[in-house]
Amino acid sequence: MPWCEECAKYWTPNSMNEDGTCPKCDGEVEEVENESESAPWHFKLMVGALVVYLGYRFVQMFS
Ligand SMILES: [Zn+2]
Repeated sequence: MPWCEECAKYWTPNSMNEDGTCPKCDGEVEEVENESESAPWHFKLMVGALVVYLGYRFVQMFS
């Protein structure tokens, strides 16, 4: 997640300047991993897809 130390604010990639700087102070923006989000949606999606895939392969083994 893009984090500006100058403004002490998180930015979404869409709201940032085109060159990847802060839209408010034009300063450098750091990419920060938010570790409090233990299970982001794309991780859940990946696990779900894996379960579906393995289930499909399992059914295929017996057909
Ligand atoms: Zn800023």
